[in-house]
Amino acid sequence: MVLEIMPNIYKLDIPIPKNPLKSLNSYVIKSAERTLVIDTGLNRQECRAAMDAGLEELGVDLANVDFFITHMHADHSGLVAGLMKKGSVAYCSAEDAEIINMDESHWETMRVFVQTGGFPAAEFQNAIEKHPAYKYRAKEYIDFTIVNDGDSLTVGDYQFVCVKTPGHTRGHMCLYEKNKKFLISGDHILADITPNISLWSDRHDPLHDYLESLEKVRCLDVQLVLPGHRSLIKDFQGRIDELKRHHRTRADEVLMILSKGPLNAYEVAAQMTWDMTYDTFEEFPVSQKWFAAGEALAHLKYLEGLKDVKREVLDNTVIFSR
Ligand SMILES: [Zn+2]
Repeated sequence: MVLEIMPNIYKLDIPIPKNPLKSLNSYVIKSAERTLVIDTGLNRQECRAAMDAGLEELGVDLANVDFFITHMHADHSGLVAGLMKKGSVAYCSAEDAEIINMDESHWETMRVFVQTGGFPAAEFQNAIEKHPAYKYRAKEYIDFTIVNDGDSLTVGDYQFVCVKTPGHTRGHMCLYEKNKKFLISGDHILADITPNISLWSDRHDPLHDYLESLEKVRCLDVQLVLPGHRSLIKDFQGRIDELKRHHRTRADEVLMILSKGPLNAYEVAAQMTWDMTYDTFEEFPVSQKWFAAGEALAHLKYLEGLKDVKREVLDNTVIFSR
């Protein structure tokens, strides 16, 4: 389905089968020279078919298309290698380009880290194999053109500035059009769902980064947000304030859970409230347990940074307490 949002800017609905996100918003900015496609969908047939149909309806030839990848997640980046033709440019931040082009070692690092969070070792391999980011990732090396915070990008009548917004991923990038007052937000700001903030390496504090990145964009003059999933957003600052409140509430919930005694991250995740239809945490599909553990860890790390939570290591597992 193709929807015209403003002159020469179109939204394509790229399905994400069997995923609560339902679909990806891919944006096509047409120009007489090179057309820009922002985010692509997973590396699977259903996504490719929707992309091909959309571009055909718009009369866009892939030979004249460049790509902008807001962040490394497979639902945004998975299809880009297959879509690129000779001469195509694919823009991405250095941090996220590195992860897209990384081999299996990235998953091995995660495995070691997640086990210290108490994630059951026996479930790990299963979690990875079922993980859509693993199954439908880009499997070829992509020669990205690296973009940095503040870089400008002109497509037809639109003049964008790259705004780096780490948090959802380390190198997440938004595109801001100052004159037309809109922001292409990737997964930094979404309307109907809260962007997932997960911790997969102990060197970072992604929730801290995310909250700073919300503050960073809050001062921009934005009348319309074009997000990576679901509906467009008009009340930009209102939505930012909601997202900030959401994480404060989650952090308070984690503190509440720890007030009953020390726990590992997996045990904390099991006691947090999740918007799921299962009766108990044990019944969650393994991939959802995985996301839950990552989110619990992100909040624990953030609270540790605020000195509200401390840790100790017992038998290779990190135990958190107040
Ligand atoms: Zn994402």
